[in-house]
Amino acid sequence: MELRVVVTAGGAGIGRAAAELLAVAGAQVSVCDIDPLAVADVGEIEGIAASVADVADTASIDRFMFESIASLGGIDVLVNNAGIAGPGGVLEDLDPDEVTRTLDVDVTSMFRTSRHAIPVMKQQRSGVIVNIASTAGLFGFPYRSPYAAAKWAVIGLTKTMAMELGEFGIRVNAVCPGSVAGTRMDHVIKLEAAATGRTGEEIRAGFEQQVSLQTFVDAVDVAQAIGFLASPAASKITGQAIPVDGHTESMRT
Ligand code: NAD
Repeated sequence: MELRVVVTAGGAGIGRAAAELLAVAGAQVSVCDIDPLAVADVGEIEGIAASVADVADTASIDRFMFESIASLGGIDVLVNNAGIAGPGGVLEDLDPDEVTRTLDVDVTSMFRTSRHAIPVMKQQRSGVIVNIASTAGLFGFPYRSPYAAAKWAVIGLTKTMAMELGEFGIRVNAVCPGSVAGTRMDHVIKLEAAATGRTGEEIRAGFEQQVSLQTFVDAVDVAQAIGFLASPAASKITGQAIPVDGHTESMRT
């Protein structure tokens, strides 16, 4: 049977790469994104249906999940991918509203989607949930405390979900991407340059030198790990936080 897959924030980046990879493998994929242009673009791809929804808005996600599960006729795989970088800077300068927003988009969103998928998966007695964390969920991350807090929370949530859902045949894992080449990291580098007074080039080199492979990863590298976790090849893997990062030893640039 074709896999029935839901991906949040699937209009660009890792979410889009995962949606494309799974659709090419024959899955029926429903993605949401907050950006209508990205939705229109990804919705052109065969096997992908796309809708505008904001993971920080409960009513919007209720509608998206209800419609996705109805049109797919169930749900085999939920990829909780949405996450924002949040504010950069030393903790005492951060705006609490921006901290709350980061936690909402990066963590609470996973409760909004999962509460729709879980009852269906329990009834099927099968299902896979992949939560996108970050290497920022494995180490401290100076000048990005809201993001680090959010991503550590994603890993705690993942392990707890795996314990609650294992008896129903539902697997839950986190994927921890390292720095992904693209516009988002360009933005993160700018934030950190502003917070530290160092140049963007120095910060970029610092990010590259954090990892054993000395390189950023591509969205497709992360999508392949998501595809593996969604597949029967991973049938005994649950409750794990799997880095796709070239091996990070520290988040200090
Ligand atoms: P991205 O910044 O490229 O954005 C992907 C999509 O998210 C965009 O199309 C955007 O419109 C959408 N989006 C943003 N806010 C949304 C919302 N509230 N509701 C719905 N859609 C929304 O994302 P990315 O870099 O591919 O990151 C995906 C996930 O991977 C995130 O959880 C992120 O924290 C994590 N991650 C990214 C990196 C990286 O270097 N890019 C590294 C580690 C972890």
